[in-house]
Amino acid sequence: MSTPILSVEDLRVTYGRVEAVRGVSFTAEQGSLVTLVGANGAGKSSVINAVSGLLRPAGGRITFEGRDITRTPAHKLVGRGLVQVPEGRQILATLTIEENLRMGAWHTGAGAQRSIDAVYDRFPVLAERRALPAGSLSGGEQQMLAIARALVAAPTVMLMDEPSMGLAPKIVDEVFRVIAEIRASGTTVVLVEQNARRALRAADHGYVLQSGEIVHSGPAAGLLADERIVQAYLGVE
Ligand code: ATP
Repeated sequence: MSTPILSVEDLRVTYGRVEAVRGVSFTAEQGSLVTLVGANGAGKSSVINAVSGLLRPAGGRITFEGRDITRTPAHKLVGRGLVQVPEGRQILATLTIEENLRMGAWHTGAGAQRSIDAVYDRFPVLAERRALPAGSLSGGEQQMLAIARALVAAPTVMLMDEPSMGLAPKIVDEVFRVIAEIRASGTTVVLVEQNARRALRAADHGYVLQSGEIVHSGPAAGLLADERIVQAYLGVE
C-alpha cells in the first residue's frame, strides 16, 4: 500500500478535564474519501479541528504528505493544501459572495481571481449572484459557498465537518454529488458526518467514533453491510 497522504496516530484532545478524543488513529490514502461517523458529541469535530490546526492536540501525531503537522496552525496548513470546510458553514453574511470567495484565496496572491473564476464555472449560481450578500443565499447555497471557498484554496486534502447538517434531503443529495465530484477530481476528502449511512455510501473507508474512541473501522461497504454496526451506531433511516 502507498504511504497515506494523511495519518493520525493516537490523537488526544482535551477541554480542561474533558477528554473529548482518547487515542484516535486513522489514515487517508491519496485520492480517497474517508469518513468519521458518530453520534452528537462523539468527538468528530474535535478530531477534524485538531487535524486542520484549529486546535492543539493534547497528544498524538498528525502527518500530512510525510511531514509532522501536529502543531502547525491552520493558516499555514491552508497554504500547503490542507483545507477545512467548517461546521455551520461560517459564511460572512454581510459580505458579498465574491468577497467570501476572496477570503478563501487570500494566500494565493496573483492567482486568486483565476481560482475564483474556476470555482464560478463549477457553481454557476454563485457566479450569477457574486455581487449579492452571502446572507441572501439559501442554506444549501451557503453550504455550496463554504465548499467553493475551500476549493479556491486548491486543496489536496479537504476536511469537511457535517456538510449536510440542517439541509433538506434534496439539497443533501446535491452536497453529496459535489463531494463525489471533488473526490473524483483527485482531492482527498475527510468527511465528518452524523448522517452516517449517507457518508458511508459515499466513502471508501469508514471509522465509527463513540465517546472519543474509534469502535469500528473498515471498508465503508463492509460497515454498511454489518447488521450489528448498523443497528448499534447508524440508527434507522
Ligand atoms: P457534534 O456533532 O455535536 O459537533 P462531535 O462528535 O463533533 O459532536 P465534539 O464537538 O468534538 O463532538 O465534542 C466532543 C466532546 O467534547 C463533547 O462531550 C463536547 O461536549 C465536548 N466539547 C467540545 N467542545 C468543547 C469545549 N470548547 N469545551 C468543553 N467541552 C467541549
